[in-house]
Amino acid sequence: MFHRALLLLLLLSALILSRVMAPAAIGATDDRSGGIDLRDAVGSPSACADRTTTPRLIPPQDSVTLPILMYHHIKQLPPKASATWRNLTVSPQAFEAQLRYLAEQGYHTIYFSELIAYFNAGASLPEKPIILTFDDGWIDHYTVVYPLLQKYCMVGTFFPPVNWVENGNGKQVISWEMIEEMSRGGMEFGSHTLNHHLLTGQTEKQIMAQLVDSKAALEQHTGKPVVVFAYPGGGHNALAVSLTAKAGYEAAVGIMAGVEQTRDDLFLLHRITVPYSDDLKTFAARIRSKRPPPFLPGSSLWPDPRSELADR
Ligand SMILES: [Zn+2]
Repeated sequence: MFHRALLLLLLLSALILSRVMAPAAIGATDDRSGGIDLRDAVGSPSACADRTTTPRLIPPQDSVTLPILMYHHIKQLPPKASATWRNLTVSPQAFEAQLRYLAEQGYHTIYFSELIAYFNAGASLPEKPIILTFDDGWIDHYTVVYPLLQKYCMVGTFFPPVNWVENGNGKQVISWEMIEEMSRGGMEFGSHTLNHHLLTGQTEKQIMAQLVDSKAALEQHTGKPVVVFAYPGGGHNALAVSLTAKAGYEAAVGIMAGVEQTRDDLFLLHRITVPYSDDLKTFAARIRSKRPPPFLPGSSLWPDPRSELADR
């Protein structure tokens, strides 16, 4: 038990160091950045150290108020975009405004590994903790999200389906090289299976393969433990939840709405989705709401990247 606690402490120290020392990785403006200025988007380590000095800490408890925001695409949408895409997309300008708001309000972005240590190993959390998650490995996670997180000295957790990365050629979906660079730059990666198929309806053997093989691939490329899992489409049942723990994960997220996280819900943590229509006032209310509205999936909510290509 002592050794496990020591190991967790070492891991946390390494994570905090990697955040403060996050290297300048992304260059200047990118024509895929959606029109925002990324020229000063590389936060210097000293600037980030200043920004993250000694926040007040929340002592360990069995529950914590911790918004876990769920993003998919960060890009401009054409006016005729469907309701599905409007629910899964935030414009780069709105996203940056949201990050600036979080920074101004004193929120501290944390890793899932820190939440796990809080519940399981008696670690503290910075006050006003928040987790930013990005599902499905879209290319704008590298071209827009990563530099903006660096600009604001923030971290995020990314859930790319492994087969999409393998087949994406770095065009619609991030590549292994991008994942490796982002990981070195202090970003956290979680598993979202190999192929993004719903786990409900699959056999135990099939689910285990999705859980174990995706975890191994991400760990091989990042050189870091993958501790968190996101159920594709939010779909889960008792078997999927128990196998996620059995496969070696320590936490999991679905799409159940809420900002209160408890130790008992470590494998069913709540998230809040941010739609395209949010202005800052709506966004501010959303992350504070004790009863955020449920996320209502559409029929083609999590389409294959190829269908996104067809939309263009
Ligand atoms: Zn997904």
